[in-house]
Amino acid sequence: MDDRDLALYPFISEASQHVGSLGFSLDRLITSRALDLARLRGKERVIQSLFEGIEKPPLTGSDEGPVLTELLSYPFARILVSCIDDSFLIRRYSLAEAVAAYMLLKTRDVDFLSDIGNDFGVDAKPSDSYFNINFTDYIKLASSMKDLKWKLVNRKLDHGNVRIKKEEFARLLQEAVRARIQDSLPIEVPEDICRLCTPHLDEIKVILDERKTEFGAGDFEAVESDLFPPCIVHAIANTMAGVNLAHSMRFAMTSFLLTVGMTVDEIINMFNISPDFDVEKTRYQIEHISGSSGTTYKPPSCDTMKTYGNCYGEDELCKHIRHPLNYYRRKLWFKNRDEKKISKN
Ligand code: SF4
Repeated sequence: MDDRDLALYPFISEASQHVGSLGFSLDRLITSRALDLARLRGKERVIQSLFEGIEKPPLTGSDEGPVLTELLSYPFARILVSCIDDSFLIRRYSLAEAVAAYMLLKTRDVDFLSDIGNDFGVDAKPSDSYFNINFTDYIKLASSMKDLKWKLVNRKLDHGNVRIKKEEFARLLQEAVRARIQDSLPIEVPEDICRLCTPHLDEIKVILDERKTEFGAGDFEAVESDLFPPCIVHAIANTMAGVNLAHSMRFAMTSFLLTVGMTVDEIINMFNISPDFDVEKTRYQIEHISGSSGTTYKPPSCDTMKTYGNCYGEDELCKHIRHPLNYYRRKLWFKNRDEKKISKN
């Protein structure tokens, strides 16, 4: 493969060997002024993965500069994703890289697709504009496809092979690329290297928090109530003390607690303080907010909390976030980082 192909398909083994042979140390990749563009493009890859997807440059000119920039932006993007170490970002980024590759792959000829397939150890032989792919490889790559046409029962088997069109093979390769990238992340990045990337990381984290909130992504593993934002802590304290919350605050607190992973029963127990507590009515209200009616309600932003007088006890971190969920995410991130530091020492 030529340098342009290696830059456009940087996840293949030959591309990583090529990057290794260029002799760029990690320090140089992170600090060299000559590689500013590669770092900017690396950050752009990660940010694009959170929106419409990664756009690949045409790389058609004779200038080698953009080729090197594109090639080196990939390891830098992987460093950024690994320093952030967020499962939502890893999934989005891996998928975006794979989809971008597919958009190019489906325009390439069978020989090129065959080379890429070999790199992934996929047993598939080209024949005209078709591929005969070994059925075990087919099942492995097509298992995540929702469309019924990918089900093995809807395919013709011939001597243990499934015959598929070239474009379909490119689509299966997308899945192979996604799995390779996702399984390889996060990579081990020394802490001082992550620290040098802080300006890029901070920018991505702000966008990541916002996108996760928009997607309603509640990928919290365990509820860590000591990391809740002051407004929610205040509301919980009032609830525990039997103080009646305003409807808007009750909604904000309930939707927040559901999103971070509390169950309906756990929240009901929290409300179960006052003597006139109506468990059925409370259950109905909480289940409604959790999506029983088909609409899942997201907790309100800080601006909305302020409008209703529900922002209470703003602290330093509040100045840097615009949503109570992002407060919690940031605190979780700091906590995980500190725990990793301690376990390394
Ligand atoms: S700024 Fe946002 S997170 Fe902080 S207390 Fe106010 S509403 Fe809560």
